[in-house]
Amino acid sequence: MAEDDPRRRIPRTDRLLETPALADAVARLGEATVKQAVSSAQARARAGEIAPEDVARVAEAGLPGRATSLRPLLNATGVVVHTNIGRAPLSAAAVDALVAASGYVDVEYDTATGDRARRGRGTLAALRAAVPAAGDALVVNNGAAALVLATTALAAGREVVVSRGEMVEIGDGFRLPDLIASTGARLREVGTTNRTTARDYAEAVGPDTGCILKVHPSNFRVEGFTSAAEVPELVGLGVPVVVDIGSGLLAPDPRLPDEPDAATALGRGATLVTASGDKLLGGPQAGLVLGEATVVERLRRHPLARALRVDKLALAALEATVRGPRPPVTAYLHADADAVRARTERLADRLGVRVVPVVGAVGGGGAPGLELPGCALELPEGCAVRLRRGDPGVVARLEGGRCLVDLRCVPPHEDEVLAGALERALSDSLRPTGGDG
Ligand SMILES: *Cc1c(COP(=O)(O)O)cnc(C)c1O
Repeated sequence: MAEDDPRRRIPRTDRLLETPALADAVARLGEATVKQAVSSAQARARAGEIAPEDVARVAEAGLPGRATSLRPLLNATGVVVHTNIGRAPLSAAAVDALVAASGYVDVEYDTATGDRARRGRGTLAALRAAVPAAGDALVVNNGAAALVLATTALAAGREVVVSRGEMVEIGDGFRLPDLIASTGARLREVGTTNRTTARDYAEAVGPDTGCILKVHPSNFRVEGFTSAAEVPELVGLGVPVVVDIGSGLLAPDPRLPDEPDAATALGRGATLVTASGDKLLGGPQAGLVLGEATVVERLRRHPLARALRVDKLALAALEATVRGPRPPVTAYLHADADAVRARTERLADRLGVRVVPVVGAVGGGGAPGLELPGCALELPEGCAVRLRRGDPGVVARLEGGRCLVDLRCVPPHEDEVLAGALERALSDSLRPTGGDG
């Protein structure tokens, strides 16, 4: 390397880390992350791509905004509960609860006596208050865990009686029969895909029956010549009846008439109800078990319960969801169509694009047949990838060769941010090269 080679002027790592901006970044993001940005900037200077005096600035520019690689997204799909983008967004009250629970907290500790206390008792009290028909409640890691715990505790080594019409695949290849088989319980299928009667159950129930399981087909509908036995017809058979309602509605929602809820199922005599916390309930990932106190206690005492234990952050956010203001999922589901249309038209005028009618959906979380009529901005198809990769990322819907931007699940205070993202995606789409830029 010659004496006057500019590469000799590339600042050393320790010097760079002492600059106020990078020292601050180390405090926020950790040393490894900052060092990585620094060494990549130094490498660019060595390659002659940037000047040595620009290394600090380029390293700073290359830093991520947060210590997590998860990128917040705007959901412009119109699908309210979208598993791939994190299901339910939390309410401000739930976020506040998460932060409160992030340090040392009395999650399993009684500050009055100094003794150990029931884990998450505030959350359980909130659930019992919301569902008075439940004698007791238990929270585990997710809906699948609630189901596994219930079938294991009630039927390991014995039979679980299930209708053939309810042998569902939850999603991503996870199938209910496999899940139950993994618990050591045997599935006893009854009825047919479209029709199962109370008599089918009665004939299958015997001394080897651990429980009857009713599963809500939350992501599809069977229409036509169908019938299913209702819970009241099954409770007299002398075995526990577990109802997996999936979606997590605690009480009936008149606007979702086909969606089962915990209060109704328990009121009709179900022994246990299991559900997810992050579907229509609108809370954090969690699995709820509600029902007869002695049976819930059996689940709580099962060794598997410890392996499925929910963390304090989810407990805090769940309590705030159940007790607090209505969560975003509920607001989006029942969004005022006129208000969404007015926001959409304002954006359409500004961007010079069309507004088209669309049908939104609840998503993987429930109410499979329910259509949510609404409207969307119509953009060229190529905008979708630019929107996804932009900052913030915007997930739109691709349909019929168009990129549709549905504001149903975009909080109104983000409209300005969304407008900026759409403007950038549209102006890029006018560039002749059409590259990703
Ligand atoms: C979603 C769902 C599950 C799984 O719940 P997770 O919280 O995703 O684990 C189980 N059963 C039904 C009926 C569901 O809809």
